[in-house]
Amino acid sequence: MLLARQGFEVTLLERSRFPRYHIGESLLPSLLPLLDLLGARKAVERRGFVRKTGAYYDWGGQEWALRFGGLGRTAQYSFQVVRSEFDHALLEHARDQGVKVHEEVAVRTVGFRDGRATDAVWSSDQGERGVTRFRHLVDASGRAGLLSARQLRTRRFHDAFRNVAAWGYWRGAAPVETAPEGAICLFSLPDDGWFWAIPLHDGTLSVGLVTDKHSFTATRKALGSTEALYADRLRRCPALARLLARADRVSPLRVESDYSYVADRFCGPGWFLTGDAACFLDPLLSTGVHLAMYSGMLAAASIAAIQREEVAEDEAAAFYQGAYRHAYERLLILVGAFYDLHQGRNAHFRRAQTLSHRDQRPLRLHESFLHIISGVEDLHDAQDDTVTRLFTALREPIEGHAEVGLGGHGASLMTPWPTAPGQAVAGLRLVVEPRLGLSSTGN
Ligand SMILES: Cc1cc2nc3c(=O)[nH]c(=O)nc-3n(C[C@H](O)[C@H](O)[C@H](O)COP(=O)(O)OP(=O)(O)OC[C@H]3O[C@@H](n4cnc5c(N)ncnc54)[C@H](O)[C@@H]3O)c2cc1C
Repeated sequence: MLLARQGFEVTLLERSRFPRYHIGESLLPSLLPLLDLLGARKAVERRGFVRKTGAYYDWGGQEWALRFGGLGRTAQYSFQVVRSEFDHALLEHARDQGVKVHEEVAVRTVGFRDGRATDAVWSSDQGERGVTRFRHLVDASGRAGLLSARQLRTRRFHDAFRNVAAWGYWRGAAPVETAPEGAICLFSLPDDGWFWAIPLHDGTLSVGLVTDKHSFTATRKALGSTEALYADRLRRCPALARLLARADRVSPLRVESDYSYVADRFCGPGWFLTGDAACFLDPLLSTGVHLAMYSGMLAAASIAAIQREEVAEDEAAAFYQGAYRHAYERLLILVGAFYDLHQGRNAHFRRAQTLSHRDQRPLRLHESFLHIISGVEDLHDAQDDTVTRLFTALREPIEGHAEVGLGGHGASLMTPWPTAPGQAVAGLRLVVEPRLGLSSTGN
């Protein structure tokens, strides 16, 4: 959309026909400035989604509510969306902005010549086959991971956050009286795992269980079915069970593993990975759609700047890789820190949510961490960047500040756009006005 709005020719090949089901319903306030940049805020508001004004946590024996009101003028709220409708609204808006959208067309392979991506070989549900040539490819194929998982095989799973989710939709649930209006509610379980509860505008409540893969497999085997496991975990969560006491589940359960992963490289000559195609983070803090849309913006800015010959391709690639990785890693740290607050009795669960040394090695966690907590002076001198130490430090500023918590769903999840010279990445900064692009820090 962003490239089409600037007059570039954009072709979008989508395997499904929209509207199609998708998980990922609770969105962060960081969405609003992005929707404004896309000119899509009205198209989304028109759908009448639940306005999410905060988050409520019943977590590790503590309870707190976070209200988005304090996040500045542009981001006072977000939405809880039925993804089939939200995604459809954006696809239609893309068409309106001049993107050539082809649905039920799946890309089979990406062709490379002399190391540069040059074309996409596709086939349609109607049996057609074809090749689309391009200057730049944005692989936004999600967890399917056209390039990273299938072709280049650069996807690497983290040792931590190997979780499985099981969820369904309920009608007739009671609200959490103390939660902000339209809030996502998160409930940690006494032993392992947690539930989300997300109110949707169709009158249903999305209720999902997330638990580590070993516990999921063992309990399902012991109890005989996913249904029995889900019911058992609900019984162990009396606060949520009370809300559902008079409610009926009106959908079958869906199950998906949500192991976290990251690709070794986010871009290369002629190609960019965005969203889940590049990396995936445990859904604990509802960061998926934010990362997908944020990386889409960074990729569009990079491509526009390359095409207009304002920057060299390798410079833009260094910017994209650095800026997107930084956004991902800072959220990775926050998710880890949040799990660290989980005081469940199952030691294995806590260990399974802790970033291992193998996870940490390729990450610049220390640098990312300093960005998150910038303002906490004494940490600037800390040389030891073990995750344990970082998590311990991360908790300190919030002890006794229940309103802010760990910044979960709040200010810390607002990835700062690298627009100021001081935030430059690889010597470049993002420019959004008067047109999207990149600029060397001096300009
Ligand atoms: C259990 C669970 C709960 C979650 N909860 C949340 C939440 O509350 N909030 C949140 O923000 N995120 C959440 N997420 C994450 C969220 O679902 C994703 O991060 C987000 O949808 C990523 O967007 P994307 O555009 O990268 O990929 P997708 O939304 O998956 O889009 C990829 C698209 O590419 C198409 N495609 C795939 N392969 C091809 C191909 N070969 N050719 C053509 N088209 C192709 C697919 O059909 C699809 O439409 C959750 C995830 C899980 C697993």
